[in-house]
Amino acid sequence: MTSDAHVLIAGAGPVGLTAAVSLVRAGVPVTVFEAGADLSTESRASTFHPPTLDMLDSLGAAQPLIAQGLTASTFQYRTMRHGILAQFDFSAIADLTNHPYRLQCEQSRLTRILHDQLRGQAGFTIEFGSAVEAASQDADGVTVTIKRDGTTESRRGRWLIGADGARSDVRRSLAIEFEGFTWPDRFLVISTPFDFYSAIAGLAPVSYVADPQRWRFLLQIPGLWRVMFPIAERESDETALTPEFAQALMANVVPGIAHYEIAHTTLYKVHQRVAKTLRRGRAFLIGDAAHINNPLGGMGMNGGIHDAMNLAARLADVWHGRAADITLDLYDRERRLVTLEYIDQQSTQNKRNLESDGVAFKAQLDAIAADPQRTRDYLMRVSMIASLRRAKELGATPP
Ligand SMILES: Cc1cc2nc3c(=O)[nH]c(=O)nc-3n(C[C@H](O)[C@H](O)[C@H](O)COP(=O)(O)OP(=O)(O)OC[C@H]3O[C@@H](n4cnc5c(N)ncnc54)[C@H](O)[C@@H]3O)c2cc1C
Repeated sequence: MTSDAHVLIAGAGPVGLTAAVSLVRAGVPVTVFEAGADLSTESRASTFHPPTLDMLDSLGAAQPLIAQGLTASTFQYRTMRHGILAQFDFSAIADLTNHPYRLQCEQSRLTRILHDQLRGQAGFTIEFGSAVEAASQDADGVTVTIKRDGTTESRRGRWLIGADGARSDVRRSLAIEFEGFTWPDRFLVISTPFDFYSAIAGLAPVSYVADPQRWRFLLQIPGLWRVMFPIAERESDETALTPEFAQALMANVVPGIAHYEIAHTTLYKVHQRVAKTLRRGRAFLIGDAAHINNPLGGMGMNGGIHDAMNLAARLADVWHGRAADITLDLYDRERRLVTLEYIDQQSTQNKRNLESDGVAFKAQLDAIAADPQRTRDYLMRVSMIASLRRAKELGATPP
């Protein structure tokens, strides 16, 4: 084996490590470079959708993840004025997935499960504290520049996967534009051990509350509820992160409860952006390096895992001589288009629905809930099954 005989992956987040497990299982050696000294513990994604769990199951990662999370078979929409607008149950699409529920579990659990699977496997190397700074390519392979402990080194590989998150250095180095925009409002996530089931009648483990000023969602994870609010442009980051500000927001959630135990608060900027291309020669973008969206609907990491599975299967086929290099273009075609058509559109629509007074939204939800076929179509869309079907259709037609 020459030193080029590896796929290089920048970033050991949930998406980069999904690609690594998938490639190593398919007999393709990988080297992962992670800028951090260890796997991230940041609390971000906590929703895994049904088809993502089906994919993780094929890698042996779903069962240990399910064991550490909470399964939510229902989710609901509310307003303070109307109460529950509609509630949906994933059992209506139980024939389409082996996991008819959302799994609520923090993404840092998945990265540890995937890393544990890879550790010690032939064909897997990971270098922590190693940031990929730049990438170049020639006819035979890619060269990356790694910065570690203040020194710079070069590595060669056959292909490069940029899974290095929203500020991707790989994307910058390839001069790929990140088209889209940043929302003026930010989102604040407040975690609390408060038992909302005891205070809100009929609450589902995932509940979205529409309101033109103070929409929110409540989402249960093991031991905590995460409550997310929009933060207006006029509020400074410093103000939004004070305990008083968090308590004032939380005071709107249940009438009569004015004080909560708060475990963490985190403030996020929110974007809708998709890279102009997901392939440049021997280099590919996956996950947040390729696309970012607002987190309403929990689609960013899920879409990234779908990217990783799609690309890894195609690279393994080309690696083993079962497919031609041109088939790798289908990765860009399938995943970029479904990101624009589904993830970008659905997450934007989710934000608009929550920002409304709920009247038109209620009429729309009533019509969906009254018709079993529309209910199935809706659940297929929000669970991302529809996006994967569309990707398959796109791949069936030549690029
Ligand atoms: C509040 C919030 C809630 C969310 N909830 C959900 C949800 O419920 N469901 C969902 O699907 N998505 C959700 N998301 C989005 C989700 O967190 C991201 O889509 C996901 O983290 C993307 O994974 P990734 O592996 O592509 O990137 P990241 O998780 O950002 O990982 C990138 C990795 O690359 C490393 N790195 C960075 N630069 C370099 C470099 N130059 N060289 C080497 N390594 C590098 C980083 O240290 C990191 O470990 C949420 C996001 C937010 C902000």
